[in-house]
Amino acid sequence: MTGLNEKNGSCLCGAVGITAKNPSNKVGACHCGMCRKWGGGPFMEIDCGTNVTFRGEENITVYNSSSWAERGFCKKCGSHLFYRLKGNGQHMVAVGLFDDQEGLVFNSQVFIDKKPSFYSFVNKTNDMTEAEIFEMYGSS
Ligand SMILES: [Zn+2]
Ligand SMILES: [Zn+2]
Repeated sequence: MTGLNEKNGSCLCGAVGITAKNPSNKVGACHCGMCRKWGGGPFMEIDCGTNVTFRGEENITVYNSSSWAERGFCKKCGSHLFYRLKGNGQHMVAVGLFDDQEGLVFNSQVFIDKKPSFYSFVNKTNDMTEAEIFEMYGSS
């Protein structure tokens, strides 16, 4: 049985499954240089907090991408799974993993000032620059 407030997904090859309980329906995009290196383009994610469980966890490789965060991917197919804050275990999960894409709202873009000029989303979103992010969350 799947609860109403549960979202299920998997990586491309199916070796890793994910269940998020009470996830946000808001989708954010990050244009920072690290996300674009990682995925070849902006990282589109849902904030799933700490209520995330994985199946096939032995197939996840976690890359230590900075002093404050790490990134997980499937070691079999390379699908990007999450960006995770080390301090509080908050998971920003790649939105494309989820089977059900209905009801999602793309509402925010961060590091908008790092976005290269060759693409832009037409969605009306709340955008934040690097300076605004550091001002809000602190730079440490
Ligand atoms: Zn996989
Ligand atoms: Zn980023």
